[in-house]
Amino acid sequence: MHIHLARWIVTPGRPPLENGGVVTFGGKIVAVDRAAVLRSHYHGTVTDHGEAVICPALVNAHCHLELSPLDYGLKPTVNSPGSFVRWVNRLIALRQEIREDQWSSAIEDAVFQLIDNGVGVLGDVGNTERVPLFVERTESLWPFLGIFFQEIIAPSEKNSTQLPPQFYDSYPEPQRLSVNAAPAFTRALSAHAPYTVAPSHIIALNRWNLDRGLPFSIHLAESRDETEFLENGSGPLRELMEEKGHWPPDWSIPGKSPVKYLEMLGCLHSHSLCVHCVHVNSEDIELIALRNANVCLCPRSNRFIGVGKAPVAAMHRAGINLALGTDSLASNRRLSIFSEMAELARIAPEMPPDAILNAATIGGARALGVESQTGSLEPGKNALFLAVQGKCRSEQEVLEFLVNQAHRGSVNTELLEG
Ligand SMILES: [Zn+2]
Repeated sequence: MHIHLARWIVTPGRPPLENGGVVTFGGKIVAVDRAAVLRSHYHGTVTDHGEAVICPALVNAHCHLELSPLDYGLKPTVNSPGSFVRWVNRLIALRQEIREDQWSSAIEDAVFQLIDNGVGVLGDVGNTERVPLFVERTESLWPFLGIFFQEIIAPSEKNSTQLPPQFYDSYPEPQRLSVNAAPAFTRALSAHAPYTVAPSHIIALNRWNLDRGLPFSIHLAESRDETEFLENGSGPLRELMEEKGHWPPDWSIPGKSPVKYLEMLGCLHSHSLCVHCVHVNSEDIELIALRNANVCLCPRSNRFIGVGKAPVAAMHRAGINLALGTDSLASNRRLSIFSEMAELARIAPEMPPDAILNAATIGGARALGVESQTGSLEPGKNALFLAVQGKCRSEQEVLEFLVNQAHRGSVNTELLEG
């Protein structure tokens, strides 16, 4: 048995606990209580983290590790029409310049960056086998619990070279990618976006994941370019697709917002993970809330690409489960959920700090379907938590500290598994 003590214990759904601790055994949490109570009831090795905050490991619900070699290759863009398509064009061009030997080391650096920033749970998206191969190679050292989403891009219903009609039968059963006993990293499929995947394929991908108890992830309502394309079939996205020869002749324009389109396809539900949701109106928000769908916010990526700010406070008020994601190093300088929390506080000052912390922990765990294992400090859950060094004097101060201060480089974050 191991007893971790600290000045503060912070977990979703409870007020911060001063002078508390967490008892672990066999990789699971056994108890969370005041230090004095734990010392009298439990016996084992004691680690006193002193002036620190113990909180659950952070959940990065949306990342693309395979884009890590593009770090610093792309520059932030000011918010303007067409900024998203300009970013996509630069991404496509840069991706072709990466040498084969650069991928693996960049992915490894990015993994260490996530760990250094307190991430213990990951939802990663990729079009290639680079990340799954990396996970296999690192075997028991792979540190994250979570999901690798193999992302499908298939604009045409008829294009059988990209996606045969029976594609969902041909994929292997979801497997644990990590052989480590504690963290489990599973594999799922995801649809890239409503404008790059034909409706029948979106429906099939959604079904494939639901049949296996996995969340269905899709980039949704990220840019004005996307909403214009889905509503009117026009704009920079259409031009891009025509230019690349991806404009599917069999595609009919939905004439709907991205959220309403997903609803029409029957793919908006409690296992949907809608990534971004920057351009959603009040009707869209009501619909997401009604269907209990999850939204993963990527505020720093949105700022980088210049697509605008998600109506975070309205989504929070509607009771939507919010998660946080960094997106990739192609649209972010840092893979840090602490930084995403600080950005969320900046763009949505009405959001209470505990709601922001929820998005970074239990909200993300719920969105990835792993809330029974992680996301909060509760007996029976995995012993996967952080000790963040910092001096706080009150309950309010400790939450403010985690949300607004802990992203600064000087704060020492230790990822504990015990
Ligand atoms: Zn993304």
